[in-house]
Amino acid sequence: MRSSRRWLSWLWTWVAPLVLPWVILLAVNAWPPGVPLARGAIPREGVRADRCTWACHNRGCAHRPALPAALTGDRALFGKTIDGLYRVGSLLSSDRRRGYGLANLLVFCVLWPALMYALWVSAWRERERLVALRRALESSSGSAEGRA
Ligand SMILES: [Zn+2]
Repeated sequence: MRSSRRWLSWLWTWVAPLVLPWVILLAVNAWPPGVPLARGAIPREGVRADRCTWACHNRGCAHRPALPAALTGDRALFGKTIDGLYRVGSLLSSDRRRGYGLANLLVFCVLWPALMYALWVSAWRERERLVALRRALESSSGSAEGRA
């Protein structure tokens, strides 16, 4: 019982975060054609006055942003992020567009998930350490009560 629980804990901590995203990715891409999740290209949509559509993504957005300019502005967080991705991309390739794409893959498909995985493992280890401490405390207080 205890060893199966340890095995499940090991599976949950180390394997699931690495395997499940790929399983989901493959499942979404293997979805039958016609289902909205599967896309072979960026969709084309018409402009709507009441909300953003893919037309905003493809040709630029004229809507009033819902988020503050400090996040969405070209000279704020969004613009600086794009500039940073182009700068990192220039280190990876002499082709500006290819470098930008590679930088996106590096940051959002490798570095960010690796950071999240490291934080997950760290948090899980801390949780297990706290559980072990609680068990040790409960067993020592239980034996102290037995002596009294
Ligand atoms: Zn828009």
